Amino acid sequence: MPSLAPRPDLDSLPKYVPGRTIEGAVKLASNEVPGGPLPSVQAAITAAVTGVNRYPDNGSQALRERLSRRLDVPAERLAIGCGSVSLCQQMIQALCGPGDEVLFGWRSFEAYPIVVQVALATGVKVPLTPEHGLDLDAMLARITDRTKLVFVCNPNNPTGTVLHRDEIERFLEAVPPHVLVVLDEAYKEFVTDPEVPDGVEFTRTHSNVAVLRTFSKAYGLAGLRVGYAVAPEPIAQALQQVYVAFSVNSIAQVAAIASLDAEDELLARCREIISERTRVRDALLEMGYEIPPTQANFVWFPLGERTAAFAEHMLDRKLIVRPFPGEGARVTIGTPEENDLMLAAAKEFQAI
Ligand code: PMP
Repeated sequence: MPSLAPRPDLDSLPKYVPGRTIEGAVKLASNEVPGGPLPSVQAAITAAVTGVNRYPDNGSQALRERLSRRLDVPAERLAIGCGSVSLCQQMIQALCGPGDEVLFGWRSFEAYPIVVQVALATGVKVPLTPEHGLDLDAMLARITDRTKLVFVCNPNNPTGTVLHRDEIERFLEAVPPHVLVVLDEAYKEFVTDPEVPDGVEFTRTHSNVAVLRTFSKAYGLAGLRVGYAVAPEPIAQALQQVYVAFSVNSIAQVAAIASLDAEDELLARCREIISERTRVRDALLEMGYEIPPTQANFVWFPLGERTAAFAEHMLDRKLIVRPFPGEGARVTIGTPEENDLMLAAAKEFQAI
């Protein structure tokens, strides 16, 4: 007799470990921005609440048109998703069947291996360089006829490292046209290095490049779940075909548009985080930590075996960071006061 059971391979699925929230503790674990919504965004959210008896626009048409103007990209090349993590999953579902290969650097965004395995595709993890950055040459060397997609996270989560324009250009020249290169730019708005390209430009010149962006980080809407992809038109359409109907809710759509309308104000807030990032990294270097240069709203502590002890030490001081046991800890840049607490705790840890 057949019995009812979930797929046995689900037990081997890597777990997505969300940042913890503990009453009274400072959360520096999920790369969120510290401030709540701007008054104009909050007003748009409040106004949208009255319409929630209706289903949302399944194609997020108004948001796609707003982004189309903002990015100078035809709306047909844009897909909206329930967070960019959902778009990662849609990318795999749209392109990969069982046994197809998906390449990504490792360590990188922890959702990649999960969405790949759920689709019965094969994840190929390519180790980072000794400087904690993506190793594009090593990634190129792992491309086969079965490779369907490569995730290139720029800046890379959790290390904060970036790839420059010339490196990406060389990579794109060498990648065969049957492979889609997905530039995951979740942290783009925190980038100040002029050598880091805007991935959308590559989507104008290459038919195998897509870009993922999110409203969760710089735009401060992590709780509303909305992100977007800029892709070749057939890929954008395929993303819509595998979209779970109505998964981007109406409040998220309205809030994303209001955030684009308030972009200057939001990006000014990002500049405060960027200047804190410099202050925090400099202070940590001064203490003797190795912290790779970061262009995101977090710093990476490559602590190896000391990682768990570091996270515990932080937690004892009511600071929640994101440990990757045996590898390192990622710490989000918070308010100046929160960063001061973190720096004081890091200094103590260094003395242990
Ligand atoms: N890509 C990267 C690199 C990320 O770090 C994250 C969030 N941690 C995401 C995508 C997903 O963000 P969201 O689903 O909130 O848009």
